[in-house]
Amino acid sequence: MACEEAANPAAINPREMALQQLAESAERIGLEEAIHKKLAQPKRIVVVSIPTQMDDGRVEVFTGYRVQHSMERGPCKGGIRYHPDVTLDEVIALAMWMTWKTAVVNIPYGGAKGGVVCDPKSMSEGELERMTRRYTSELVEVIGPEKDIPAPDVYTNEKVMAWIMDTYSMNKGYVVPAVVTGKPLALGGSRGRSEATGRGCVFVIEEALRVKGMSPQGATMAVQGFGNAGTVTARLAEEIGFKVIAVSDSRGAVYNPDGLDVAALIEHKQQTGYVTGFAEAEEIPRDDVLTVECDVLVPAALGGVITKENAAQIRAKIIAEAANGPTTPDAQKILDENGIFVLPDILANAGGVTVSYFEWVQSLQSYFWSEEDVNRSLRNVMVQAFHDVYQRAEAAGLNMRDAALDVGVSRVAQAQRLRGIYP
Ligand code: NAD
Repeated sequence: MACEEAANPAAINPREMALQQLAESAERIGLEEAIHKKLAQPKRIVVVSIPTQMDDGRVEVFTGYRVQHSMERGPCKGGIRYHPDVTLDEVIALAMWMTWKTAVVNIPYGGAKGGVVCDPKSMSEGELERMTRRYTSELVEVIGPEKDIPAPDVYTNEKVMAWIMDTYSMNKGYVVPAVVTGKPLALGGSRGRSEATGRGCVFVIEEALRVKGMSPQGATMAVQGFGNAGTVTARLAEEIGFKVIAVSDSRGAVYNPDGLDVAALIEHKQQTGYVTGFAEAEEIPRDDVLTVECDVLVPAALGGVITKENAAQIRAKIIAEAANGPTTPDAQKILDENGIFVLPDILANAGGVTVSYFEWVQSLQSYFWSEEDVNRSLRNVMVQAFHDVYQRAEAAGLNMRDAALDVGVSRVAQAQRLRGIYP
């Protein structure tokens, strides 16, 4: 997947949930009605049909969306997903969440999201390429380095970004690398981009431990999902002293109270496709990874996995949401009652979009940074964002999720106030 963004709790209409969150934040921060009304609506919704020649000669017509929620603080930014369940409401909600996320880490972007209703797993590479190129052509007037910069999301990757960049460049008549992020390194991608989400997550976990008076040395971690975000988080956490005691993927989970050897587990997963069958661990039921006793739990798989059914059994002190939307609103209430410190997705997984921002800056300048420069700058952004949110949480007696939302909404509102409503 390797994305900037992804799934959210399926049972709840995501757009209603996003509007509800905005309304609650508006109430807490005393937002003017005019700005609230404006932020409740996306700036622009584009719906396109994407006729695509399939390998057998038939023409399929796919539906594609691009939603630009806000450009108050800069051009729009957000991923593109290819999935049969993509809906306009979901894309609208995800675009709104991108607005708050870019504002929480204080990078000069608004929020956007795109999606095509299709089943990429059943399509050939040629079909995906033709669909991607036509989708890009349909959007050529609304995306661009100074307007809206797509990135990978569910079932899109750096190859898809390369096709988008090429199609856009062909339409313009010159090469425009800054039109997308998450590109291959050879086309102007950024060093450190592929690890950025996990690395950013570990940076905020370190800050959370610091304010809680805990040390990473010997602290324990459980990780749900062992893909891009989960493997990098586990590996870097181990590097700073954590014992990673439980890890799951879609098939099952492994557990070792003395700490799993993360590098060996990654190799095992690469060779066999799964974490199960790893010699130096005991197998446990897949979803038990969420309820093992540990200091830090990292959901890094799907949305909607921490629910009112299992929240009371969670025995972690800190939850760091590498995944998008892993905790339902009902579950959050239970976690709050149990004193569990939750680092919300719009903070904990914002490392990906932050390094996307660095990639865009590098592409615009045609001047490329070392990996050390990328990682140092990422740390600065994540540490600052953590403390901005923590300060709000402490000052207003809020959990970190509500505090992060307030920080994000306040920053967008401030930009809107300064710019005024045109004309
Ligand atoms: P990925 O596809 O690389 O990995 C997902 C992992 O989750 C896989 O190992 C899969 O086996 C596992 N999984 C699926 N169902 C599971 C289940 N029921 N229980 C346990 N594991 C299960 O995806 P990713 O890029 O690592 O993204 C993971 C999450 O992080 C998503 O919610 C995504 O939105 C979020 N995220 C990722 C990035 C990024 O840059 N990669 C950025 C922001 C947010």
